[in-house]
Amino acid sequence: MKRRNFIKKVGTGALAVGAGLAVKPRRARAAGKHKTYNWKMVTTWPPHFPVLGESADYIAKWVEEMSAGQLKITVYGGGELVPPLQVFDAVSSGTVEMGHGAAYYWAGKHEATQFFAAVPFGLNAQGMNAWIISGGGQELWDELYARFNLKAWPAGNTGVQMGGWFNKEINSIDDLKGLKMRIPGLGGKVLAKAGGNAILVAGGEIYTNLDRGVIDATEWVGPYHDYKMGFYKAAKYYYSPGWHEPGTTLECMVNKQKFEALPKHLQAIIEAACAKSNIWCLSTFEALNEIYLQKLVNEHHVKLRTFPDPVLAKLKVMTKEVLDGMAAKDPFTKKVYDHYMDFKKNHDAWDVISEERYAKLKHL
Ligand code: CA
Repeated sequence: MKRRNFIKKVGTGALAVGAGLAVKPRRARAAGKHKTYNWKMVTTWPPHFPVLGESADYIAKWVEEMSAGQLKITVYGGGELVPPLQVFDAVSSGTVEMGHGAAYYWAGKHEATQFFAAVPFGLNAQGMNAWIISGGGQELWDELYARFNLKAWPAGNTGVQMGGWFNKEINSIDDLKGLKMRIPGLGGKVLAKAGGNAILVAGGEIYTNLDRGVIDATEWVGPYHDYKMGFYKAAKYYYSPGWHEPGTTLECMVNKQKFEALPKHLQAIIEAACAKSNIWCLSTFEALNEIYLQKLVNEHHVKLRTFPDPVLAKLKVMTKEVLDGMAAKDPFTKKVYDHYMDFKKNHDAWDVISEERYAKLKHL
């Protein structure tokens, strides 16, 4: 009855439109409800790599569970389908639908990617989450990745990393001169400014290179992961803090076109799985690091050291020079840099009266 009244009122022209509207959503709903998707995710990590690779495995597992099997994702370790550093291109081109890694691996595509992973003396895990999730960082990340037909979310975090493994003590900035160290990205550029040699070595080859003296030092992640890598067998001194990676964000990326073609509920499920992975990864590192630091110190007699403040102060000045130089070359990099730094200034001010003040209570 109601429908008849409606037809009378709007006439035939509008009826065609009305009928179309009534049918299309039903078809779309039906397609989204029953179609199953088999996707591939390539990663920068060796297969099932502790925590980092496991984060990718979990995303696939959670997506399949939450979607009741409608979206199945097969995860491939680095080199299984594409080499680790071709993840970005493989997802961008649509060869595969998803990827897992860290945005600073793609500095060669665009230098601004590094702000979405780690900046020396930059935001820690809490700050990175605040900036990306609630401070406008995600919008800038979307803007950058859209150029490459990609979309990415934070999908893990290492927390504050360790400063690295050395076979000599670092007492002054001059001790970094001539040092051959595996340290990627912006940290490597800062080391180079300090007179060191930043060497690029793939994860699987670091131990052998350190053991054979091809490199003098290396950084990696933190006590749990570094223990698994066995670096304590090849270096004596373990330094904190990881000034170069204060809260590295891992990313899960999708091919933007393929993501937008998914039904909305599957899009939401992918985002939810990434958010869960983001907290799972950080929580796991935070839960295990001190246990493994104790093993390193007590069972393997690793000498724990802290970089002297004057060394860190000089590295901080050099970091600003590296970042300013990078921003001066590209307007979009400058836009992200300015946004990140404005956010950090504000976040630091709050941190001083909240986290920093609270942290001091440990020593009462
Ligand atoms: Ca690292």
